[in-house]
Amino acid sequence: MSTVQERPNEVRRENLSALSDADGPIPFVDLRPQHASLAEVLRATFDDVVGDSQLILGPQVEAFEKAFARAIGAAHAVGVSNGLDALTLALMALDVGTGDEVIVPTNTAAATALAVSAVGARPVFVDCDEDYLLDLDAVRAATSARTRAVIPVHLYGRAVDMTVLTTWAARAGVRVVEDVAQAHGAQHAGRACGTWGGAGGFSFYPTKNLGALGDAGMVTSGDAELAARVRRLANYGQRRRYEHVEPGRNCRLDTLQAAVLLAKLPHLEAWNRERVVAAADYSERLAGVGDLVLPRPAAAGDRHVCHLYVVRTATRDALREHLQRAGIGTGVHYPSPLHLEKAFASLGYRPGAFPRAERMAQEIVSLPIYPGLGLARVERVCVAIRAFFGG
Ligand SMILES: *Cc1c(COP(=O)(O)O)cnc(C)c1O
Repeated sequence: MSTVQERPNEVRRENLSALSDADGPIPFVDLRPQHASLAEVLRATFDDVVGDSQLILGPQVEAFEKAFARAIGAAHAVGVSNGLDALTLALMALDVGTGDEVIVPTNTAAATALAVSAVGARPVFVDCDEDYLLDLDAVRAATSARTRAVIPVHLYGRAVDMTVLTTWAARAGVRVVEDVAQAHGAQHAGRACGTWGGAGGFSFYPTKNLGALGDAGMVTSGDAELAARVRRLANYGQRRRYEHVEPGRNCRLDTLQAAVLLAKLPHLEAWNRERVVAAADYSERLAGVGDLVLPRPAAAGDRHVCHLYVVRTATRDALREHLQRAGIGTGVHYPSPLHLEKAFASLGYRPGAFPRAERMAQEIVSLPIYPGLGLARVERVCVAIRAFFGG
């Protein structure tokens, strides 16, 4: 059981800083340390796949599906093209479509709500709680006769309270599709995110906790029929070759990306621990600094995998500029709640609809956190932040 406050002693501090170059800039995200440590393996993987040349649905796709399912404890997993397609296919396989409503948090990556639009359903936005997760009271209040599904997003790597959500959803007859794009290996009550809902949608976008060398995704499910349907829908609606049983799409996972992910998967635990250790270090060094609001530790029994380390301050933009001048990159996840984005303007939401998410969007800033960042860099970021607040 890990929380952002624990310091798992499996990770030695020396290892974390091994790749740091002492005083250089600190980008917001840097995949080079991760890929440098795997350079040989990645080259061998490339040679294998090109040697075999089974580039579509080659054996590594099934091997990765099995390994990933085993790693998180899911009964079934279907490799797909990306996280947006994973969520879209999950909704399609649940027959969510025109005339249906799907509840989604307004503070998430656009892809969460775009999946709902993609199947012709209507995203119904809800506000977030203090931990940036969808507010479960708001979910209940947003439910109507047309509500077919809800998409809890395990944002920043923190698990939504799936006990409460799935209990309510079962009673209300609402399907649950988890957005697990930021939470590979995260757990609620000792059970992995992506195994609680009717389906889970993972992304292996390069910067996620487990990332491909390009786009990739996965649908997980405990339901064999649902998984089989996702597999069909992702492959031209075919049950077997040239037997098209329903209108499908092409959302397959490339063999090359599957092989890369298979090679990276054994490192996911160690990478997640590095993130957890870095987050704990940030929290220790930044406690009581300025008006910063730090992420709360995970609830007992939960596991936060620290995809992002997000803090809040009233002087967010000035802090970002200060850090930029110090050569430290930051991000904002996300600068605009989705109900205010033009893509969703036809839904008719107005500014003020979701006050907490709107306020947080002005105040949040994501600090660098990734495997190979190293605690020396965490310290440099914290020194620069304390200097900004005059301490
Ligand atoms: C990255 C992300 C997605 C989309 O995944 P892609 O692979 O980029 O399509 C969806 N939801 C969340 C919360 C994400 O962070």
